[in-house]
Amino acid sequence: MQNDLFIFNTLTRTKEKFTPIHPGRVGMYVCGPTVYSDVHLGNCRTFISFDLIYRFLLHLGYKVRYVRNITDAGHLEGDRDEGDDKFAKKAKLEQVEPMEIVQKYTVGFHDVMREFNTLSPSIEPTATGHIGEQIEMIKEIIANGYAYDINGTVYFDVEKYNKEFQYGQLTNRKLEDLLEGTRELSGQDEKRGRLDFALWIAAKPETLMKWNAPWGWGFPGWHIECSAMSSKYLGETFDLHGGGMDLQATHHTNEIAQSQACNHASPVNYWLHTNMLTVNNVRMSKSAGNGFSPEELFTGNHPLLEKGYSPMAVKFFMMQTHYTSTLDFSNEALQASEKGYARLMAAVKLLDNLKPASTSTSDITELESSFYNAMNDDFNAPILLANLFEGARIINSVNDGKETITAGDLEKLKTAMRAFVFDVLGLKSETSNSSADKALQGAMEVILNIRNDIKAKKDFVASDKLRDDLNKHNILIKDTKDGPVWEIPE
Ligand code: AMP
Ligand code: ZN
Repeated sequence: MQNDLFIFNTLTRTKEKFTPIHPGRVGMYVCGPTVYSDVHLGNCRTFISFDLIYRFLLHLGYKVRYVRNITDAGHLEGDRDEGDDKFAKKAKLEQVEPMEIVQKYTVGFHDVMREFNTLSPSIEPTATGHIGEQIEMIKEIIANGYAYDINGTVYFDVEKYNKEFQYGQLTNRKLEDLLEGTRELSGQDEKRGRLDFALWIAAKPETLMKWNAPWGWGFPGWHIECSAMSSKYLGETFDLHGGGMDLQATHHTNEIAQSQACNHASPVNYWLHTNMLTVNNVRMSKSAGNGFSPEELFTGNHPLLEKGYSPMAVKFFMMQTHYTSTLDFSNEALQASEKGYARLMAAVKLLDNLKPASTSTSDITELESSFYNAMNDDFNAPILLANLFEGARIINSVNDGKETITAGDLEKLKTAMRAFVFDVLGLKSETSNSSADKALQGAMEVILNIRNDIKAKKDFVASDKLRDDLNKHNILIKDTKDGPVWEIPE
């Protein structure tokens, strides 16, 4: 049950049939977070999109090596080697070691990714753990004549590179156009060309995170880490490379240049870029100040939020838009997603209740194909969701006795619905099944039975006290015509 998978490749600007380098195996690299502050929901959109892609590749049976790095050094505030080091600046602000910043926000990132039920990558390499590899790569680029050292800082020579290769290929821009859009060098600049970027940056006396290299003490530029780590774990040319669209013009363009200058090979066969999460049509970013954290979103503790939304409702909201389109945040859309998510999960839950009959009124094989067709068409989650709702419609109709299904089709429906809802979309039920919850349910049953006994003896003072005492612990008892029920209000 697999047609060909088609992927929109940024490099060729077309949807191409996916053919991995090694049959049955996929190498995928995604630029990970710069761990100097909390991730915002926009960052999460990108990582959740690649989780969907990873999950579908796994579902198709590929053995995937998914590498997503942690940028824990070398990221200056400007993408073109200007400004302060992001980690040093934050460390100064919080009066801690830069590595404490790294640790804090790496842990925070992992917590958030877990809340969104994303899978861990196969390898999560750090820039600081691969300084040696980066130095080796820079040495090779210098030896090949594409980089030069000035006062301990090594620059990549873009114009020289462009004589042989095409710089700007990823965004379909010619060097002349790119040069036009870049400011002229000032007398203070040491680099030779306007577009040249740093591979290695000489340490200043106050630099905290620095390493010894053939060019002196310093630290690597941001772009070289991804080239060094992707080639180390995935080879000089690998299948898929992803990141947010904002990384195309500089970070990924420079990655291609570095790898080609080092290995004379184009590093990536398929480049994938996720579009931006926006708020009132402005890109969510740390600098724009419109970025709320996932935690604020879950609790509703932010001026832009009318209330809190659960991780799965948020994930459902993201899945309703294709990863290459912008996604604008709104309370209305999230509230609609809460309902959509609940409807889908309710239908999946009903699967176990369905009774088979001698005929099927719906074509389940066609339904199953529609799930694959959606995802094979450049991971089209919104179409998949629409098709899953057709599945939900069938489930509800069979449950209501309006439609019938054979035993074989029922098995097929169960397998397909569960595979695409849980394994591919990575949704999960939010009603907890933990042993603590089960114990609480048991204990509440015991308490409510005792309360019934007390009421039967007409000791209403004691039964009301029991109710009020539970209320103090945020357990609300309601007496209904079917007997008492309890809930924990939000
Ligand atoms: P950073 O930690 O800033 O390096 O970003 C991590 C990832 O999040 C990168 O792939 C960015 O392209 C991506 N990203 C940043 N802002 C947004 C946004 N508003 N929407 C979607 N992805 C984003
Ligand atoms: Zn990167």
